[in-house]
Amino acid sequence: MQEQWVYVNGEYVLKDDAKVSVYDHGFLYGDGVFEGIRVYNGNVYRLDEHLQRLYESAQSIMLNIPHTKEELTNIIVETLQKNQYRDAYIRLVVSRGKGNLGLDPFTCGKPGVIVITEQLALFPKKLYETGLEIITVASRRNRPDVLSPKVKSLNYLNNILVKIEASLAGVSEALMLNDQGYVAEGSADNVFIVKGNTIKTPPGYLGALEGITRNAIVEIANELGYKMVEEPFTRHDVYVADEVFLTGTAAEVIAVVKVDGRVIGNGAPGEHTNKLLEAFRKKVVEEGVKVYTGQTVQAG
Ligand code: PMP
Repeated sequence: MQEQWVYVNGEYVLKDDAKVSVYDHGFLYGDGVFEGIRVYNGNVYRLDEHLQRLYESAQSIMLNIPHTKEELTNIIVETLQKNQYRDAYIRLVVSRGKGNLGLDPFTCGKPGVIVITEQLALFPKKLYETGLEIITVASRRNRPDVLSPKVKSLNYLNNILVKIEASLAGVSEALMLNDQGYVAEGSADNVFIVKGNTIKTPPGYLGALEGITRNAIVEIANELGYKMVEEPFTRHDVYVADEVFLTGTAAEVIAVVKVDGRVIGNGAPGEHTNKLLEAFRKKVVEEGVKVYTGQTVQAG
């Protein structure tokens, strides 16, 4: 098997040797921020937007990222080159760093920086053909005035509780509602519904991560001439939609064919979802920060 290199605090180490201190507040308290990014065909997709979101999350929790955006870009590119990946998922983590056992983040030294690259698929390939069955869960999305879902922090317990509910119900993903009962998002993805020629996704203020894939799909939907609106909707609107789909860096665009036992549309991925997915796939291989110039390197 090919060796897998991970960037950990200034060094490239093999996957099994990639370790952080038990005193890192990222480990002790989920104190840190992260990004999930993808490289397609040797182009890192919308890296500027991911780095912008990372810096904004860090600013919000008063975490000083010890690198410039250019330096982080170089680290990501080098990690991909070292692993010879052209198509991969990239996990960029900035943790508060090593401190003492107390909560106080100001006891921590230098923030930890980690880059992991993997040839990961979130859902099995077959599910992209059949579509997903999902449920809505009792766990509500964090209120934006408590811990803003716009901060992509290492504290993912809200999302993990959703995943537990989904797994216990025998499905692979679930939708969270916000505290007012409006649909917010999935555990790790944004949600869209299609009715006629109108596509809806919840507005950011309802409490969802401002997904980069979400924003790309909003752009594509507009380009393709759909009526694309960002407005609140309820579970009822999901149940009676013609099509439902989820978006995310890891998930990409995946159809949902059953929600809380209600069959959506004709129970198969719909034509609009497929059209958007196709347009998205076409774009991602062309755009982005180039990892390789010159010769082609094939991932192992
Ligand atoms: N919502 C949540 C809670 C997520 O974790 C993710 C994945 N980052 C998304 C939405 C989708 O965001 P993006 O398209 O930027 O990956």
